[in-house]
Amino acid sequence: MKRLRVKWRCLHCGECCRNLVGRHFGMILTPDEWRRLNRLARWLGVKLETKPLVAGPIGARLYQVTQEVCPFLDRKRNKCRIYQARPLVCRMFPLSPYGILSCTAVERAPKGALIEFPDEMKLALNQFMIRVLPVLREADFIYDLTWGWRPTSRYFNRIALRLI
Ligand code: SF4
Ligand code: SF4
Repeated sequence: MKRLRVKWRCLHCGECCRNLVGRHFGMILTPDEWRRLNRLARWLGVKLETKPLVAGPIGARLYQVTQEVCPFLDRKRNKCRIYQARPLVCRMFPLSPYGILSCTAVERAPKGALIEFPDEMKLALNQFMIRVLPVLREADFIYDLTWGWRPTSRYFNRIALRLI
């Protein structure tokens, strides 16, 4: 029997922009994104709070956002105020290297349907795998928002790279 195919479309519920911090880590930013978002935050007059995720010789090799709700979210309209400049993790959401993350549009899709994601999301995921995963794979220590610097091996299997 042929499976029903549906195209994924964001419902603009804003849930993903309101839950940026997980059990241990916040939304990941590359150094370029971190600089860009800091510039935009100053320009828009909002406060972006971050910490390093993986240390580097000059600054961090990866950063993480420490705010639960993204400061760039227009909370009344559930719209991203920096949509064209949003980071990779936002461009690929709900795709991730370890499966499909919790997303209202995915949850509301007909049961058993095959969900087709836009090519630009798949490209963003590909970029994330090239630019972010190798840094995580090489890192000996990672910054846990509760416990501080800890060995990376505590959090993920380097083969599966599944962050908890
Ligand atoms: S949770 Fe899913 S549907 Fe809701 S805003 Fe985020 S991507 Fe769109
Ligand atoms: S940058 Fe935009 S899309 Fe990404 S979490 Fe913030 S408001 Fe949402």
